[in-house]
Amino acid sequence: MLTITNLCKSNHSITYLVSQLRFKSKVHWAKLRKKTTAKDKAMNHFDDFYGNVFGDKWTPMREALLRRTKYVAVINNYGDPEETMEYLTNRGAHCLKNLMSVQKEFNDQYNPTPTPPPESTMNEGTDKLAAYAAKLQSDEISSVYPADNAPETLETKEITLGELEEKKKDKIRHINKTLDQSLAEAEIDESRIIDPGMGLMSEALYQYVPATKLKGMDEWVPESLHYSFYSTKDKDFPLVTEPETEFKFPEHLKVFTYEMDSEWTMFPEPKRCQTGVFNYYPMDCGSVVAALALCLSPGDRVLDLCSAPGGKALVSLQTLLPDVIVCNDVSISRSNRTQHIFRDYLFDFDTSNKWRERVVFTKLDGRSFTDDQGFDKVLVDVPCTTDRLSVTRIEDNNLFRSDRIKERLRLPELQAQLLTNALSLVKVGGAVVYSTCSLSPVQNDGVVHMALKNAFETRSIIAAVKDLTPAVSALSSTLTFATGEIAPKYGQLVIPSLAANFGPSYISRLVRLK
Ligand code: SAM
Repeated sequence: MLTITNLCKSNHSITYLVSQLRFKSKVHWAKLRKKTTAKDKAMNHFDDFYGNVFGDKWTPMREALLRRTKYVAVINNYGDPEETMEYLTNRGAHCLKNLMSVQKEFNDQYNPTPTPPPESTMNEGTDKLAAYAAKLQSDEISSVYPADNAPETLETKEITLGELEEKKKDKIRHINKTLDQSLAEAEIDESRIIDPGMGLMSEALYQYVPATKLKGMDEWVPESLHYSFYSTKDKDFPLVTEPETEFKFPEHLKVFTYEMDSEWTMFPEPKRCQTGVFNYYPMDCGSVVAALALCLSPGDRVLDLCSAPGGKALVSLQTLLPDVIVCNDVSISRSNRTQHIFRDYLFDFDTSNKWRERVVFTKLDGRSFTDDQGFDKVLVDVPCTTDRLSVTRIEDNNLFRSDRIKERLRLPELQAQLLTNALSLVKVGGAVVYSTCSLSPVQNDGVVHMALKNAFETRSIIAAVKDLTPAVSALSSTLTFATGEIAPKYGQLVIPSLAANFGPSYISRLVRLK
């Protein structure tokens, strides 16, 4: 019989036993490690972060995120639209535009929209911006000439001016540093080490702990990158907010949906029409809201800065309003996918000159995209943590994979740069719509705030945040929006719910004033 005593009779046996125990423990840990997938990591992160942000409202959102998502059907005007609408109506679907007008009538009767604030709101906002600019200037002067060290003689003044030049150069050098250079030079705050034994996910803490660096399980990660988008130092930048007055449902856009809580939720598979294109495009209703928020007008020149795979650009084209739409995306393969989808939905897409003039493809980095005409509308549907996909999709492309941690932490910076550039590409009077499919206040309001501040400080651009609340209240029988204390300040947030399992989608509409 194999007993410990027998085994201990020879050294060889002892070595064997120890090696077996080691092997077993390795297997055990390997199993445990394997269990923490990127999806698990994403959910752990969301539980920590969103649990804190949304309180008890997070639990139902979490449940909905894990359930089957709901879609609406965007009818293809280049197929057989009348036939398709009849087909979907017979299957219990409703026209979104009709649902909205019924809901609007109800709202107007029972919850009339408060009278918009007087014109002075905008002036107050711009006055505050002027005061902010003056403060920036005086701060800069006093940082060079501190009150108790004011230059007195010509000699000392000359030295101080030299210092001023040096300080300016320093500042420029600092601004011109790439993220990688900054990361390489950043000081490591070793006093903030998370003990892995505490069972905390280091990612879950990024948003809360104001440190320069955190030591996670086995890697140093730059927490400040993420946190700085929410830091209090930027909070003094005043934002101009105005009520939205241009929002209306485009006449030719036809969207079909099942009502909230309806037993019918699934549309049949799209099918080919006689013209060879598909009869409708299935999409998340939150994405339709982003396209609606552009408030397209006839003849608009539109830029979709991060366009692939082209869903929102397709909705924009289905309004029959834009003259030209430039579909940009830095990814060549994803851009090719957009072209493929357009071929499937836009009749004669490959052969007609009409489409070649109206739809232009570019494959540039949206942060450095330039144009000398200016656009009437710009959509900035940024890469984000894609919350629903991160907790449900397979591992391969998940942003919560350990080897994509830096990419994920850099998202808010990338998003803010894309939005800042969009603000410079839109004409004065034109609109930029910023959207994400994340619930993160850092990627949503945080980025809007940061980009408006950057655009003002570096390019003297002023844009107003348009309040879409009254406009989207007509969608309340179809979608669930975050309201009350969990509502974002600068946009609308479609939250996943079991009754209407769309989103998450964040949509912010900004109109350029200067
Ligand atoms: N608007 C698209 C739609 O409705 O189908 C979805 C856009 S998706 C959320 C974000 C896109 O941004 C991705 O296709 C990605 O390739 C692109 N992207 C990422 N970084 C970019 C950059 N620096 N410049 C331009 N596009 C970028």
